Amino acid sequence: MTRSLGGAELATSIRNDASVAAAALAEIGVRPKLAVVQATDDESTAWYVRSIASAAKRTGILCDIVDLGAAASTEQIRSTLVELGHDPDVHGIILQTPLPDGTDLDALREAINPAKDVDGANPVSLGRLVARLPAFAPATAQAVIALLDHHGISPHGRTAAVVGRSTVVGSPVAHLLVQRNATVTVCHRHTTDLAAGTRDADILVVAVGIPGLITADHVADGAVVIDVGTTATADGRLLGDVDAAAVDGRADALTPVPGGVGPVTTALLLNHTVDAAATQYAQTRSDSLLAGFRSSV
Ligand code: NAD
Repeated sequence: MTRSLGGAELATSIRNDASVAAAALAEIGVRPKLAVVQATDDESTAWYVRSIASAAKRTGILCDIVDLGAAASTEQIRSTLVELGHDPDVHGIILQTPLPDGTDLDALREAINPAKDVDGANPVSLGRLVARLPAFAPATAQAVIALLDHHGISPHGRTAAVVGRSTVVGSPVAHLLVQRNATVTVCHRHTTDLAAGTRDADILVVAVGIPGLITADHVADGAVVIDVGTTATADGRLLGDVDAAAVDGRADALTPVPGGVGPVTTALLLNHTVDAAATQYAQTRSDSLLAGFRSSV
């Protein structure tokens, strides 16, 4: 029987740590604040954003949902991101997708202040991650690694396959696994034989958005399978990319959808916001101490 690698316990522990750190910051007058920019009338996206806001509130983090509406232009979204980047009361910024058709997502990601880029969306953050420099990793990619750690599964010396190569999930997961000394194969929509790329992997991470794409043929006996995919159905269910019934008994462990990667992702976004607030506070303090020192010499 395949073990279920749930994310609820880990998410609670990350949120508790963030809550303690947020309370310590509040004592010195800093209220961590997250701004989520959305521009869609998609109800499942709006629901997801509201769930981040209520988790933030429970953790002692202020959260503004900046809803620009489904007709927002690239320029409107860009200027909002730039304004938030300059606002000293805002410590973390998330640009929620999907965005209106025709929006220049690449330009918008570049408009997020890297110091506040708590979901690692700016290419500067991804570049620093690849170069192994301090940066916020995309929260979902980091959640995959955090789940493996939490369940005592080490990628060191193991083979891993990642299905999906987006800049927000697949590519950063692959880099993080390499940094943990796994040997990684990346598969994507142009991979001609997907099963050949995945069926020997000790660890299989799937981030595509096609329910049931991964069946028993794609999974090695005893593999650990992390299902990042989430597809909302018309009747309100959330489906993963892995056919859980088909891989049951073959995989050693599988993350559930919902309740696996998702809650850990949200908890990490809050954790990053508190970290960003602490770093920005320390930076302001050192800037003002330096200014005082300069004016005294
Ligand atoms: P994306 O659309 O940007 O990327 C999808 C990737 O899948 C692409 O790299 C593409 O090449 C690959 N792909 C498409 N068809 C394929 C096929 N037949 N075989 C192999 N590869 C194929 O999506 P994304 O933003 O990376 O998200 C992927 C999934 O993860 C989605 O279901 C999304 O909803 C989910 N997601 C979940 C969380 C979470 O917190 N759980 C967070 C972000 C994204």
